[in-house]
Amino acid sequence: MMVQTGGRVDARPARDDRPWRPLDLDELPLRDVLRGVSPYGAPQLDVPVRLNTNENPYPPSIGLVDALGKAATLAATEANRYPDRDAEALRADLAYYLTPDAGFGVHTAQVWAANGSNEVLQQLCQAFGGPGRVAVGFEPSYSMHRLIALTTATDWVAEQRAADFSLSVEAVAAAVERHRPALLFLCSPNNPTGTALPLEVIAAACEAMHAAGSGMVVVDEAYAEFRRDGVPSALTLLPQHPRLIVTRTMSKAFALAGARVGYLAAHPAVVDALQLVRLPYHLSGFTQAVARTALAHADELLGSVEAVRAQRDRIVRELTALGLQVAPSDANFVFFGAFADHRAVWRGLLDAGVLIRDVGPDGWLRVTAGLPREIDTFLAALGRVLAGAGAGTGQTDGQTPPDR
Ligand code: PMP
Repeated sequence: MMVQTGGRVDARPARDDRPWRPLDLDELPLRDVLRGVSPYGAPQLDVPVRLNTNENPYPPSIGLVDALGKAATLAATEANRYPDRDAEALRADLAYYLTPDAGFGVHTAQVWAANGSNEVLQQLCQAFGGPGRVAVGFEPSYSMHRLIALTTATDWVAEQRAADFSLSVEAVAAAVERHRPALLFLCSPNNPTGTALPLEVIAAACEAMHAAGSGMVVVDEAYAEFRRDGVPSALTLLPQHPRLIVTRTMSKAFALAGARVGYLAAHPAVVDALQLVRLPYHLSGFTQAVARTALAHADELLGSVEAVRAQRDRIVRELTALGLQVAPSDANFVFFGAFADHRAVWRGLLDAGVLIRDVGPDGWLRVTAGLPREIDTFLAALGRVLAGAGAGTGQTDGQTPPDR
């Protein structure tokens, strides 16, 4: 149906008026490697308590909203021009921000930024992976490492973490020896387990990769700001290890998931390499302006980290007291189990209006450290589910998708 609106034609067809026949993905000439693959998809359900995507539950203050809006308005005055392709000013701000964690003066030339750390990871795979090359990860870990490898035609090898989700120097060295990867992914604190890696393991990975004449070590530190006191960042290892890359994001501790800003610190040669694969002007002027404003208010934004860590530690304590197995967490979420039927627990919580995450392995669930009242609701609901009251049936209701 065409609708005449003033002088213009609104060509949006009504839903039942679409001029195409339904087409199955299999009918398209999709790359073989993508057949049967599920897109990344944490359910976005409208329930009262959402503790499934590890966001910071504290929205920006009114003052900061105002500042972010003004930054976007200012950027709009130059929207006819392409933005700074190299995002120099933003990278300088990020370098300054990283310096205390690194323990040395991080230089702008060592920092690169993109639309979320997912895009940074994708650029790394585009530059250092590709056909005939192997990326190795230690699962359970962040599922996008595998998916990004796959979509950049990089072979993926999944090694396993130990039963307690730890990773030893020996296991990492053996994996490097076995696969001689172009990219070795280490996630610390690890999603979904929350566990951080000792620096010795990361240093050993770098040394093993060097000895094998192999590729780059990527330490995904998306949750670094939530780590417990005394847990060091892999940034401190950068001066000794030119093949080490540390990725970070403003989506978590900075409470800026909606702005899509991720970044890395590495040897300047790595940043040069990424220029070969990044799209021109990949980071919009709005994104750069908003990110710089957020960094100028880092103290305020990161002010919520303490409160989130307190809820994280509370969840660990309370779930342990319930007799559950709980992985030690340096992140803003907690991994717990081991349930005979974790799906029934997930479903029971959802029935009580609490959405958490089932990303595997079987028996385990992940909950994000949200607001105190959200954690009150979660703990009360979990207590009821475990007691068998309000546990739901464990059956899907046919409307809500399963969480994997
Ligand atoms: N790394 C890890 C370990 C994550 O959990 C996430 C987000 N869930 C990301 C990277 C990507 O985050 P973003 O693209 O928002 O920076």
